[in-house]
Amino acid sequence: MLRIAFLTVLACLARPAHAEWVRRVTDGIMGTRITVELWADDKEKAERGIEAVLQEMRHVDETMSTYKPTSEVSLVNAKAADGPMPITKELFDLLATAREYSVITEGAFDITYASVGYMYDFRKHVRPDDAQISKALPAVDYRHVLLDAAKQTVQFSQKGVRIDLGGIAKGYSVDRGIEVLKALGFTRAYVSAGGDSRIIGDCFGKPWMVGIRDPRKESGEVITRIPLVDAAISTSGDYERFFEEDGVRYHHIIDPHTGHSASKVRSATIIGPAAIRTDGLSKTAFVLGPEKAMEIYNRIDDIDAIIVKLDGTVMHSKGLEPGH
Ligand code: ADP
Ligand code: MG
Repeated sequence: MLRIAFLTVLACLARPAHAEWVRRVTDGIMGTRITVELWADDKEKAERGIEAVLQEMRHVDETMSTYKPTSEVSLVNAKAADGPMPITKELFDLLATAREYSVITEGAFDITYASVGYMYDFRKHVRPDDAQISKALPAVDYRHVLLDAAKQTVQFSQKGVRIDLGGIAKGYSVDRGIEVLKALGFTRAYVSAGGDSRIIGDCFGKPWMVGIRDPRKESGEVITRIPLVDAAISTSGDYERFFEEDGVRYHHIIDPHTGHSASKVRSATIIGPAAIRTDGLSKTAFVLGPEKAMEIYNRIDDIDAIIVKLDGTVMHSKGLEPGH
């Protein structure tokens, strides 16, 4: 199932002559939709830039996907309970960042959610029963992931622990894509993977206008438009991957404390300097609820947030309040 991008980048109108916007949409990498749009004075250069971004995304997919039995993360899941396991610097750094976000979000973001999460299949409407959840739940705790920076190893403190980077890998891959474009000299570009996007530059003196979709409207109606320059934005929604059974909505964000779907908001959008950060924070509101999550978001300096609550009302972080 491919996901519909929920952020709409609206037209950037002023365009100098002899140069153009080049846009490519690719489905299938990391199980999601990748969009790359950039400003280039030469079509061939643009295509090379786009190809370099996609190659980087394929690499992240090959390394981090739990759907691929040969990925580095799958090998960690298979072996890290047996003892310290050497891993690449790239994965080590990501695991260290994931841990940081677990601490910041008071445990709401937790890659070991997968110890229970692997039993869900939202496409096939499969979910674990209460007995299966209680049996697996003790393995959910980011503190079970032991990192040794000097040796660059990871170890799980007990059997049954599994990790999944689905809550941070797309943001990371978007940042990597942006770095690649910057290194190639691009100064105006947009990269998105699923719900995670980042922009470099502006639209010739004006900000990019990014629309945030209404979580309950199929038509793509937006609840608000935000001007962005050099920023990342991530949205998590309960409408992304879900099924309903007896009036209960089961969807892809899991509360690490209960092993059930975390359903305390409809959507959360985070704005910040890097997509790995906005991705790492966008799930928190689902687990902790709007008030507690907003308290955390407001504590972090360069982060802003828009939460759509269960009753459909919208909550803004301090930096986005009118008059700020
Ligand atoms: P997208 O995949 O479009 O970026 P999200 O950013 O909302 O969507 O991430 C959802 C993914 O996060 C889930 O599919 C799952 O892989 C992972 N996840 C679910 N619950 C948690 C959690 N409590 N902590 C960390 N990651 C989670
Ligand atoms: Mg995301």
